Amino acid sequence: MNKGIFAVLVLLLVGIILFYISRSTSFQFFGELVDRVDTERKVVALTFDDGPTKYATDEILRILDEKNVKATFYLMGQSIDENFPLAKSIVSSGHEIGNHSFSHSRMLLKSYRFISNEIDDTDALIRESGYVGEITFRPPYGKKLFLLPYYLKQTNRQTVMWDIATEANLGKDATTHEITEFVVNNTQPGSIILLHVMYQSRKQVMASVPEIIDQLKSEGYEFVTVSNLLSLR
Ligand SMILES: [Zn+2]
Repeated sequence: MNKGIFAVLVLLLVGIILFYISRSTSFQFFGELVDRVDTERKVVALTFDDGPTKYATDEILRILDEKNVKATFYLMGQSIDENFPLAKSIVSSGHEIGNHSFSHSRMLLKSYRFISNEIDDTDALIRESGYVGEITFRPPYGKKLFLLPYYLKQTNRQTVMWDIATEANLGKDATTHEITEFVVNNTQPGSIILLHVMYQSRKQVMASVPEIIDQLKSEGYEFVTVSNLLSLR
């Protein structure tokens, strides 16, 4: 085979492999990544990505309060900055806060400086909002390759993904019933459930939250925060 063609094929193959690794929910090059916790206890963590937004924060807090469930919110620095009182009310309601970057950029092909600023600035805002617990990190779009995991490992931050996500399996137009059924049928002890409720376009997801909680509770599940779940390892 011509050397030039061979080199192109190798590069293409490496590119494809790196693409799949960048979106893996269970592997990264540096540090540990958690998608669920291996346990026999019927515990599950409910996590909400993005925001806080004016559209959804009060409603999701009301639902969780009514169901007496503590969840984990992966918030964006920029949105905390824009909606600071909402971040404070998530904290004062007793929920856990995770770092979901400042601007929700894909953390690929970015400088070390860019990545560290995105993470540090967001952590600072989370602290300003009054949160005192452990802050884990969830990559925007679940994307990570070299520098992001390297920085997280250097700074002792835990990367948290998920094992249950509805969009990848059901698409964005799934009904409330389909979302509830998918989550309840696929949850197992130690699962980390990812739901997007912060946008108006995800009304069906918000509407599924009370039903998901009720059904999993009736199966004997207890809802815990991500750091509680991690402490069971
Ligand atoms: Zn996100």
